[in-house]
Amino acid sequence: MFRQAKWSEPLIFELGNNGREGFLVPELEKEILDTVGEIHIPEKIRRTKEPELPMLSEVEVIRHYTRLTEMSYGVDNGPVPLGSCTMKYNPRIAWEIASDPRITEIHPLQDIRTIQGLLEMLYELQKWLANITGMDYCSLHPAAGAHGELAGILMIRKYHELRGNSEKKKYIIIPDSAHGTNPASAAMGGYSVIEVPSSKDGNIDIDALRSVVDESVAGLMITNPSTLGLFEENIVEIANIIHEVDGLLYYDGANLNGIMGYARPGDMGFDIAHINIHKTFGAPHGGGGPGAGPVCVKDKMIDEDKGISLKDLLPGYLVEYDEEKQMYYLKKPSEYSIGALKAFFGNTLPLIWGYVYILMLGAKGLRMVTEHAVLNTNYFNKLIENTQGLELPYGKDRPRKHETVISAEKLYQDTGVSAEDIAKGLLDAGFYAPTIYFPLIVKEALMIEFTESETLENIEKYAERIKDIVKTTYSNPDEPKKWPRNTAVGRIDIVKANHPKYVAPTWRVYLKKLKRYSTGEKQ
Ligand SMILES: *Cc1c(COP(=O)(O)O)cnc(C)c1O
Repeated sequence: MFRQAKWSEPLIFELGNNGREGFLVPELEKEILDTVGEIHIPEKIRRTKEPELPMLSEVEVIRHYTRLTEMSYGVDNGPVPLGSCTMKYNPRIAWEIASDPRITEIHPLQDIRTIQGLLEMLYELQKWLANITGMDYCSLHPAAGAHGELAGILMIRKYHELRGNSEKKKYIIIPDSAHGTNPASAAMGGYSVIEVPSSKDGNIDIDALRSVVDESVAGLMITNPSTLGLFEENIVEIANIIHEVDGLLYYDGANLNGIMGYARPGDMGFDIAHINIHKTFGAPHGGGGPGAGPVCVKDKMIDEDKGISLKDLLPGYLVEYDEEKQMYYLKKPSEYSIGALKAFFGNTLPLIWGYVYILMLGAKGLRMVTEHAVLNTNYFNKLIENTQGLELPYGKDRPRKHETVISAEKLYQDTGVSAEDIAKGLLDAGFYAPTIYFPLIVKEALMIEFTESETLENIEKYAERIKDIVKTTYSNPDEPKKWPRNTAVGRIDIVKANHPKYVAPTWRVYLKKLKRYSTGEKQ
């Protein structure tokens, strides 16, 4: 039986009372004042009124956040099989090392002689990631997968510019099963997107691809295994088709967990790849901290005469080793680099997390990660196959890699109960819901990824619960519409939750909207 704590918890701004404080700002020490002198803040940037901060004592703050965590659910509570997100357990040893003050207290402008240990770790990580992906060089600079994609697209742009082809290169090809960030990144980089369909077996439709490829194609973005959890079997042929028109292949590394240690994008013909440290390499996602999306390249020649290769286009600083001085140092971006996408080097904390993860597992361990992730997916598929109303679309008889996508279209047609309703039923059982309605090419999609960290028992319970839900649905189709009953927050109105009228990312925006809509002012 599952019960989530249900506190009726106000916003922190609605708690506390005037004049209450949980933190004291120390007086400026005389010594500092004597050294730096009177601190003068220019009129222009000075606040004219007090910041509207909540006023709470320390104990009120602690209780507020503790109650919120009790109403919350994460990978430390139970399975989070969000397909495509690779929500694996975040090993505490990596946390311990990454939160060492000798790492967290470093200033990015510190003398590099004082951060040799950190630089050595980052240097090794660059090499390991290049090795795992089969690429030649990696920059740890981008802050997330989508950020790495943008870096990749800007590199593709720069590549064609340097080859004098930027005028004619207009399109990026993306399969219809792609993650939304792919077309978004291509568009941000100034390209139009051509979508190619998947064939029945889940591979890209090669004839459709051939029919759109010509000299105007700048490149192709694809993840392999695909978001359907299927390995793209024609990838080498696809690479040839794109290379024939001097296009570049971009590897979206979000699904690396399905092939790590067994196959490498570099060997498949990819020129640029990103890696999601917070997916494949065990760093926490979202609320757990910032991400990291290193971007890696093949050392492909761009201009023989000038000696420019793809490596020179990488963003941000690379960590290099000076043999003579026996010292690690930060190499400034080359004059052909796409430049900096954020301040300083990458998000160091998740990078160190990834470093520890790789170090801890070693080459054999990383292969085992893949084996277990793939085994878990296919075992789950076996458990739910032949469940009435559920189907495995695309490549029906092909084994899946890291994840599986189930369609509840039949169930929906039979009963009116949707993928969303199934998700709510899983929440009620104390599980996290899968990703739903993605990839877009599958109707009533449930996208499930257990990763290597899930136990056999939990996978069986998850499958059992889905079968129970289906059974209930066929006998009483009204019941699922009432789910969830056991969670802290009941069913939310997903249209409202995404409507600009109601979305308020900050307290100030919330107050503004409250005022605007209560006075009937127009949006
Ligand atoms: C997660 C994901 C991305 C984006 O990565 P972020 O790190 O979330 O920015 C891109 N493509 C696929 C297939 C993904 O699953």
